[in-house]
Amino acid sequence: MTNAICRLPEPTNEPVLEYRPGSPERADLKLNIADMSSTEVEVPAVIGGKKVYSGDCKEIRMPHKHSRRLGLYHSVRQEDVGDAIAAAMGAKEEWARTPWEERAAIFLRAAEILAGRYRQILNASTMLGQSKTAHQAEVDSACELIDFFRFNVCFMEQIYRDQPRSSTGIWNRLEHRPLEGFVFAVTPFNFTSIAGNLPSAPAIMGNTVLWKPARSAVFSAHIIMELFQEAGLPPGVINLLPGSPAVMTDRVVGDPNFAGIHFTGSTGVFQSLWKQIGQNIANYRTYPRLVGETGGKDFVFAHCSADLEELATALIRGAFEYQGQKCSAASRAYLPASLWRQLKELLVAQIAQIRMGDVADFRNFMGAVIDEKAFDKIAAYIDFGHESATAEILSGGKYDKSEGYFIPPTLVQVTDPAHKLMVEEIFGPILTVYVYPDDKFQETLDICDQGSPYALTGAVFARDRRAVIQAANSLRNAAGNFYVNDKPTGAVVGQQPFGGARASGTNDKAGSYLNLLRWVSPQSIKETFCPPRKFDYPFMAEE
Ligand code: NAD
Repeated sequence: MTNAICRLPEPTNEPVLEYRPGSPERADLKLNIADMSSTEVEVPAVIGGKKVYSGDCKEIRMPHKHSRRLGLYHSVRQEDVGDAIAAAMGAKEEWARTPWEERAAIFLRAAEILAGRYRQILNASTMLGQSKTAHQAEVDSACELIDFFRFNVCFMEQIYRDQPRSSTGIWNRLEHRPLEGFVFAVTPFNFTSIAGNLPSAPAIMGNTVLWKPARSAVFSAHIIMELFQEAGLPPGVINLLPGSPAVMTDRVVGDPNFAGIHFTGSTGVFQSLWKQIGQNIANYRTYPRLVGETGGKDFVFAHCSADLEELATALIRGAFEYQGQKCSAASRAYLPASLWRQLKELLVAQIAQIRMGDVADFRNFMGAVIDEKAFDKIAAYIDFGHESATAEILSGGKYDKSEGYFIPPTLVQVTDPAHKLMVEEIFGPILTVYVYPDDKFQETLDICDQGSPYALTGAVFARDRRAVIQAANSLRNAAGNFYVNDKPTGAVVGQQPFGGARASGTNDKAGSYLNLLRWVSPQSIKETFCPPRKFDYPFMAEE
């Protein structure tokens, strides 16, 4: 195939399976859940393609049933981190020279294996380890990750195809080299797809990677690593390092070959990494790429012309699916007084119908929050809401960690738009609303724009088109992903490139060519077919 100018398979978004009673996917998923619930997994690090069992074992437990242990993972030691850097640097040359079609084939194969044989294995591990319902696992660990692989391969081709013009006698080319060094991928607990995308996006572009998964998502990370290996990824291209950041970070960002970080997680952690990298800046061979998608305080802004039922559904799904632990989750809402009485009744009635519990019981809409630390943090916000003179809790407002880390969907109304619950990222199932007088639409848009340091996602609900235009203009910089009459969650790869600015990140848009561009260092090549043979110019000739 050395002479073929290949055409990649046309990417399409993976269809979301429904898991209705009696469906084959439901039966398959339930089998995997039962199997994983009755055995224990042992998760090693994977360095240079080899499994590494450090012996420093940590437990993996179900968030919704914390008495139940799912297994153990081996936390890496400092020497393992050094070995992983050596493995990544060792694999680099050959991987960078592997033809792009062959790299594409590996990730296209990963997409197909995940769409088939691995689908319910990864879904079940995400459900049990991260407490996602069947639907939330399906849209994340199956569909979104499959989409990342399929679309990123096409974005790679799009980037390589983007070539400069050439004038007569000259051929200009752009060679999109991988970065000179290794990439550090640091992934969050809340999306299995992000965990798979952050190491694979730089790898698709020919880089080698150290991948540190979140402690609370090690189970699904282990399955993704097995998927990469099964798809034919050569040893050392992606090295999986479960364990404590304290053991890894100094060694990794202190290495002269550190060439970039692909991070998703909280704003504070990214800022501390950025500072640490800044302190080392004179020691690197090349300026590292810093790509980080971080926190959010995502809003829904309704105009008095909004449709009540559409708005209520968007608020409930947007705020409470996956227990509000989506970076894009609706967590503050600005609602017009004229709609509020009816909307409040609708919201309170619908919230009362939400079932929460073990995700293996498919009747539940919500599971538990990820761990005790998250639970305690969210519970403290609820306590604050109860004590605050300017807040009233309309639904929920309780919590219970006796069996699992359960926090029921909580609706709070505040009278101060600068209330702590309207400003800070809580990352749990709490929706705070501020009701504004209908004639203060513009003033309240300005409050929304300036009301929080974040700018990740936001939605406007209105039937009046002038109101949509006014909101879009006023909130232009308040959201990297802006929705009109839709909930602010659920971005789809290839359709709504995802990411925000301000304190929400570097806005390098996961699921688009813009992200992949960060993992290459272009080289301009000019070739002159008949170079001049004399140094002097015509203007220098005698008159
Ligand atoms: P987190 O910041 O606690 O952890 C993210 C990752 O960073 C984990 O792997 C963690 O172990 C690691 N980490 C923590 N301290 C570190 C350090 N000092 N050095 C190196 N690594 C370190 O975030 P989380 O709780 O896993 O995820 C929730 C956060 O992620 C929320 O703030 C959410 O908004 C954000 N998020 C953002 C997006 C986005 O696209 N903007 C997507 C998902 C999640």
